Amino acid sequence: MLLTISNLSQHYGSARALDGVGFSVDKDSCTAVLGRNGAGKTTLLQTLMGLMPATGGRIELDGADITTAPPHRRARGGLGYVPQGREIFSDLSVGQNIEIVLRNHRVSEPDALRDEIVTLFPVLGEMWHRRGGDLSGGQQQQLAIGRALASRPKMLILDEPTEGIQPSIVQAIEDAIRDLKGRMAILLVEQYYDFARSVADAYVVLDRGRVVKSGKGADMERDGVADLLTV
Ligand code: ATP
Repeated sequence: MLLTISNLSQHYGSARALDGVGFSVDKDSCTAVLGRNGAGKTTLLQTLMGLMPATGGRIELDGADITTAPPHRRARGGLGYVPQGREIFSDLSVGQNIEIVLRNHRVSEPDALRDEIVTLFPVLGEMWHRRGGDLSGGQQQQLAIGRALASRPKMLILDEPTEGIQPSIVQAIEDAIRDLKGRMAILLVEQYYDFARSVADAYVVLDRGRVVKSGKGADMERDGVADLLTV
């Protein structure tokens, strides 16, 4: 297993947002985390990235305990995070957004990696000199994913990458996830059931901060996962 989360808890003041969450993510596979609004999905990713210290439990990445590691160490350890809302540098060009990460992470063969990213999302090559802020929402999402890939992560963590994005770009992101998942693990938080089902090898459903169901991606229909997501 690349990532093992055990008995993880998180609180906002006295309110419990994660309550004993546990699951593992296999190398080179895509795991979808699903759940209704407020189930704890974003909190889980932020806790995983160390943006909020866990209030209990353990997170292991590639055999190392990272439960209390600061975010930059988790990024160096192989977690590439694309937060909800994307958070690209809007005043920098598309190219600069990517170059900064290539340089900071001192990846080997940066030219080859830059080419891989542009092959995955050709629009980034076409818009290379444009300001990040001038891109459409969907293009910014592609840039945010491309930027995360520039750290050559072992695991790409995506928080609702299809939210508010036009269908043609949703398709491009789906194709990219399919292409990437043989080469790295993907942890995908997704509201959109059909999208998750089409790419996930495994799924986890959260409800009120707990894992209420998990299984193989191929069994999502049989397991009635869609019913757990309707309000
Ligand atoms: P969504 O799909 O709406 O983003 P989610 O599954 O990602 O939902 P979280 O955003 O992780 O859920 O929220 C989990 C719980 O924690 C919710 O009850 C939410 O109201 C609460 N919560 C989230 N952020 C905070 C905060 N900053 N302060 C207090 N409570 C919070």
